[in-house]
Amino acid sequence: MRTFEYKAPETIDEAVSLLKEAGGSARPLAGGTDLVVQMKERATRFPYPATIVSLDRVSELRGVDFSETDGLRIGAGATMTDVATHPAVRERYAALAEGAGVVGSLQTMNMATIGGNVCNAAPSADTVPPLLVYDAKAVIVGPNGRRTLPIAEFFRGPGETALESDELLAELRLPVPATGTGAAYQRNTPRKQMDIAVVGVAVALTLSGDAIEHARVALGAVAPTPLRAMSAEAALQGQPASEETFAKAAEAAAQDSTPITDIRASADYRRHLVKVMTARLLAEAANRAKGTA
Ligand SMILES: Cc1cc2nc3c(=O)[nH]c(=O)nc-3n(C[C@H](O)[C@H](O)[C@H](O)COP(=O)(O)OP(=O)(O)OC[C@H]3O[C@@H](n4cnc5c(N)ncnc54)[C@H](O)[C@@H]3O)c2cc1C
Repeated sequence: MRTFEYKAPETIDEAVSLLKEAGGSARPLAGGTDLVVQMKERATRFPYPATIVSLDRVSELRGVDFSETDGLRIGAGATMTDVATHPAVRERYAALAEGAGVVGSLQTMNMATIGGNVCNAAPSADTVPPLLVYDAKAVIVGPNGRRTLPIAEFFRGPGETALESDELLAELRLPVPATGTGAAYQRNTPRKQMDIAVVGVAVALTLSGDAIEHARVALGAVAPTPLRAMSAEAALQGQPASEETFAKAAEAAAQDSTPITDIRASADYRRHLVKVMTARLLAEAANRAKGTA
């Protein structure tokens, strides 16, 4: 049986000191729905951790708060249930509520944290495309203090992030969406729940009248990291919010993706899904945008 030391700090600073002391042989533990499974399967990309630094008692990492001036702050330790059921998230950040709301079962959602979803860096992570379309920023704490990184720069590859081994993701910050913004997230899975996205698509549109003032399209499970579909966004910018525009952007999103063929789907099928889902979600986001304008 493999053994490890278990530490349960109460502050972020204490947790960071423990990670630093361990010199790369420790892992932070949040809900454990990825890490414990990986440790059991010994499939973790890192050497089996000598020390587990539990974040469970670190109250600074919790909470979801919204203000009209500062936008949304989500503690890395907020659970999927905290995020998906928060009234401001549901009202202002619908795509994120939709992403957090499909993670596993209700039991999984009560354990799994948004920080764990982001830091595990799976290409299929359901909260990441929504975070990308809302231009979220990651607030990272390490031995030298705090730094902030756009979420688009956080991912380096499957399971690889911009975090050093002695750094923690402390919170996510999302600006207030402009008036006239509508957004949506959907994933394709063979089963409705308890499955991993074959493709995930999030979109956000800000409309001025019928013209698209601002557009974001983000894709999951079709590249080594979740990504923004930049040519799809360019195809939307300044255009009328019409079926024709959405079809062109959907085609561009499919071109922006670089999927692989694996046990769950072929690359061609994934590209096809990106196209179909992007067109549908853009129409949905436009309808939602009109509802908020
Ligand atoms: C049954 C089941 C169903 C699932 N379904 C889905 C699904 O539908 N969609 C989906 O996206 N995922 C799914 N997952 C995966 C998992 O639940 C999520 O990725 C979850 O959000 C991970 O969060 P956690 O708190 O459990 O993270 P943990 O397992 O505790 O940690 C995950 C990784 O992040 C690191 N970490 C955690 N918090 C921090 C932090 N604050 N700073 C730095 N590093 C940190 C850990 O060291 C570890 O490497 C499922 C898992 C299970 C077991």
